[in-house]
Amino acid sequence: MAPISQVSTEEKNNGGTTATKTKMIGCNPVLWEVKSSIRGVMDELQALSNTEKTVISLGTGDPTAYPQFLGGRPPFIDSLSSAFTSSLTDSYAPSFGLPPARRAVAEHLTKVLKLCARSEVVPFHVSDSDVFLTSGATQAIHLVITILSSAGGNILLPRPGFPLYDSACDLAGVRRRYYDLLPSRRWEADPTHIRSLADDRTLAIVVINPNNPSGATFSAHHLFQIAEIARDLNIPIIADEVYGGMVFGGVSFVPMASFAHLAPVITIGSLAKRWMVPGWRLGWLVICDPQGTLQRVREATEILMNLYSGPASAIQAAVPTVLSDANEKFHENVVMLLELCAETLCRGLEKIEVLRCYCRPQGSMFMMVEVDTTRLLGIESDMDFAKELMKEESVLVVPGSILGLKNWVRLFFGLPAGLLNDACDRMISFCKRRMINSWQV
Ligand SMILES: *Cc1c(COP(=O)(O)O)cnc(C)c1O
Repeated sequence: MAPISQVSTEEKNNGGTTATKTKMIGCNPVLWEVKSSIRGVMDELQALSNTEKTVISLGTGDPTAYPQFLGGRPPFIDSLSSAFTSSLTDSYAPSFGLPPARRAVAEHLTKVLKLCARSEVVPFHVSDSDVFLTSGATQAIHLVITILSSAGGNILLPRPGFPLYDSACDLAGVRRRYYDLLPSRRWEADPTHIRSLADDRTLAIVVINPNNPSGATFSAHHLFQIAEIARDLNIPIIADEVYGGMVFGGVSFVPMASFAHLAPVITIGSLAKRWMVPGWRLGWLVICDPQGTLQRVREATEILMNLYSGPASAIQAAVPTVLSDANEKFHENVVMLLELCAETLCRGLEKIEVLRCYCRPQGSMFMMVEVDTTRLLGIESDMDFAKELMKEESVLVVPGSILGLKNWVRLFFGLPAGLLNDACDRMISFCKRRMINSWQV
């Protein structure tokens, strides 16, 4: 980490007077270089809205705002209130997490691995001690990158990506190298391209599957190709699976740890998305390492977890109930709704010539859409598009440039169909007004 610097305002001695100027207290200079966060840009855009129209947010994703997504969900709050009445919750939880909660995560991941196991490979069995509970997946990301970091090292990240990885790398002093997700290949990457980016200072590769922001779900074959690369480079795969199981359109979710026999995998998960309790701030990282090459990493994780503390004890105590099989109906409902939402949004977008979606999303709650800025008056970038759309139509979208992809926008689709249709109608009017070669010509 970079040293603390002192930023001082110029101090001049005015001919013997005793006036002293205030001296600014310095702070970590790396923070000023951290890439703009999605939240920061969203706040800026929010302030531009047309006051005559209520805002429809296709920006950051939190479907918990809409009750239809919570249909069939058992009252998680009950498990929480009983946790609060137990004496456990006043105490510190053990640094790596409450044992029943770690066991519940281990059993959950083992179950998913068994479900998609192929006959020739014995599925990896996750044990309780492989699981570390964190304050959301966000803390897990920071922990993993801090643990793996070394001076001059680099980490391979997907582009378009998830900006938290960029800032975690910057803070840890790790270089970022981007492998492209290709819209023409259903957002899978070119393995040759990934290999060409790596060198002997490559520390890890990050794989987000199902993918935010593209909405892709990677095939088992593609995950296998990535595992082969990691095996050849002798590096771990950081598998961000916070959307694990949130797939549709006839595809299935294969956890990266299915290939842990080839290369070690550090799986990151969270209750935030699939279980829709983002406010609980409960996530995990799981060391899937059948060959034992992550022994040092495991010890380092233990050291760091002993320094930090994880989620609140009461929240941890509720984990076994939240992860139980009793919630299958709720998950099925969410997936079915998300599939309908994706269809609704894609159908609406088809009517807009200047917006192009290469393939329908097959997972997560997001999709990327290309904006043909050359055909829109007064719009030269994705940021212009997002700003003008907000000013005129109060529709909030995430400009692709903050995710590494210029002239694209990210759309969140976890909204009721009515709102998605309204958003599409507003985008249609907006683009019609701005089109240079409008269809009347
Ligand atoms: C939302 C999200 C996270 C963060 O999850 P929290 O548990 O809310 O911290 C991490 N990775 C991806 C890809 C996400 O979309």
